Amino acid sequence: KRTPFIAGNWKMNLDHLQAIAFVQKLAWSLADAKHDYADAEVAVFPPFTDLRSVQTLVTADSLPIGYGAQDLSKHDSGAYTGEISGAFLKQLDCGYVIIGHSERRTLHAESDEDVNAKVIAAHRHGLVPVLCVGETAEDLEAHGASAVPVAQLRRALEGVDASKGLVVAYEPVWAIGSGQAATPAQAEQVAAALRAVLAELAGDEVAQATRILYGGSVKAANIAAFLREPNVDGALVGGASLDIDEFSAIVRFKK
Ligand code: 13P
Repeated sequence: KRTPFIAGNWKMNLDHLQAIAFVQKLAWSLADAKHDYADAEVAVFPPFTDLRSVQTLVTADSLPIGYGAQDLSKHDSGAYTGEISGAFLKQLDCGYVIIGHSERRTLHAESDEDVNAKVIAAHRHGLVPVLCVGETAEDLEAHGASAVPVAQLRRALEGVDASKGLVVAYEPVWAIGSGQAATPAQAEQVAAALRAVLAELAGDEVAQATRILYGGSVKAANIAAFLREPNVDGALVGGASLDIDEFSAIVRFKK
């Protein structure tokens, strides 16, 4: 059985002081809710400059909160101004790193090849990639929901040993920040297609162990419906992960 995974992608929000306050409140909320929140794993993905503060807080108090970065360099070190190495993230005890978010693909022209190299870099440093795939509204119209995410997954996993750890996030681009989430049935259909590809590429055992998240306008009011779908194992939450009350309510979803 896969442990549900609730991940908050803060994007370029919350400075390191705000991050400390947020993580403290999240920890209180989790402690409060021990009796009714399912055995979900919770993680936050702050900006790079917050990670050291989050690490200090989580380590000092042994908080049940994971964390990771929103991107990494495909290189390990060298003359790459502005880039952050997976080695640095590992040193800060990050467990995860988001790779291939649609905002990186669109605003920073990241190709499938870049995404593939970053997945390999994450594994090289013992980080678990949270690999984002998803179709635009035009893709959906032209090819249906699954074709583009499935193709992106195949390209991202070329030469990758998925048994080294992988989380896949299905994020339809049209659902991100739009307030218009996919239906749970739509998310399930694509998640099932992605799992079938994982089985083909990495075998059934790895496919069954890999968590596939849905992302795009997730909030407290719709999380439970997504998690009732057999192939949806959690959520990658953007806007609603910045509001402590909303995010706490998402984490405490009841099926
Ligand atoms: P929203 O939850 O704001 O739609 O963002 C989703 C997302 O992009 C998470 O990575």
